[in-house]
Amino acid sequence: MDLGIKKRTALVTAASKGIGRAIAESLISEGAKVAICSSNEENLITTAGEIKENYGEEPLWIKCDLSKSDDIRKTFEIVRDEFGSIDILVNNCGGPPTGKIDSIDETIWEESYRQVLMSVTRFVNLVLPSMKEKHWGRIINITSFTVKQPIKNFVLSNSLRSAVRGYTKTLSNEIGEFNVTANCIAPGYTLTHRLYELAVEIAKETGDSHEHILGELACEVPLKRLARPDEIASAVAFIASEKAGYITGNVIPVDGGIVKSAF
Ligand code: NAD
Repeated sequence: MDLGIKKRTALVTAASKGIGRAIAESLISEGAKVAICSSNEENLITTAGEIKENYGEEPLWIKCDLSKSDDIRKTFEIVRDEFGSIDILVNNCGGPPTGKIDSIDETIWEESYRQVLMSVTRFVNLVLPSMKEKHWGRIINITSFTVKQPIKNFVLSNSLRSAVRGYTKTLSNEIGEFNVTANCIAPGYTLTHRLYELAVEIAKETGDSHEHILGELACEVPLKRLARPDEIASAVAFIASEKAGYITGNVIPVDGGIVKSAF
C-alpha cells in the first residue's frame, strides 16, 4: 500500500533509539523527509548513520532535551529552516521514572510533567500555524497501554500519559476543521532498551533473571510475546498517512491485546 507521504516532512522526537527510532525508519522508508531529535548526541549520530546505510537517506538530527523549552524552540527552528514546514509531528519521549506514589518527590513530578506533557504542547504550538495554513497535518502522540490499564509502580506514566490523552482529544476537536488530525498510539510491552532496563530493575528486587521477567511480561499478553518496535512504527506510519485522513481524536492500541477491558 502506498501511504502517500512521499512529499511530506516529519519530526520524530526522542528518536535516537527504541520506538522513536523505529518510527523514523518507517517514515523514511515510506519516502518522507524526516528529522529526529533526542538528548543523546552520540546515539543520534550512530542512528542517523545507520538509517542512511539502511535506507539511503540520512535524517536531519538535532540534540534536544525535551524538558527544556529553549531546546524545543531551537529544534523546531532548525527543522523549519531545513524543511520549510513540518507536516507530521510524532511526539515521543523518554519514559518517566518508575516508582510508587510515596517515592516520587516534587522535582521528579515537575521534570516528568515537562518532558511528557509540556513537550507535546510546546511542539504542537510551534507546528500548528503552518499545518493550518497548508490545510494538512498529522499529530501523533506516543502514550502507553497504561492509559487504559494503569500498572503498579508507574504513577508518573499512568497519570501524565492520561493528561496527554485528554490534551490530544481536545486538540482534535479544535483543529479538525483545518484538516489536521491528532491521535495517540498506545504501545504495549515493546522490546527496547527501556523495557530491558525495567526488567533488570524488577529482577534485582525479585531475585529472578531479567530474561525470566521479560518472559513473564510476555505471558501477560494474549499474543504471548513482546512487541517489536517496528510493529508500533507501522501503526504510526499508517496514522501519519493520507489513508488515515478520517481517523482523529483516538487512542490506537498496539499492545498484543494486553488491555483486559472490552472498551
Ligand atoms: P527507549 O529508552 O528505548 O528510548 C527513549 C528515547 O528517548 C531515546 O532516544 C532517548 O535518548 C530519548 N530521551 C530520553 N530522555 C530524553 C529527554 N529528556 N529529551 C529528549 N530525548 C530523551 O524507550 P522506548 O521503549 O522506545 O519508549 C519510548 C516511549 O514509549 C517512552 O515514553 C515509553 O515510556 C513509552 N512506552 C514504552 C513501552 C515499552 O514497553 N518499551 C511501552 C509503552 C510505552
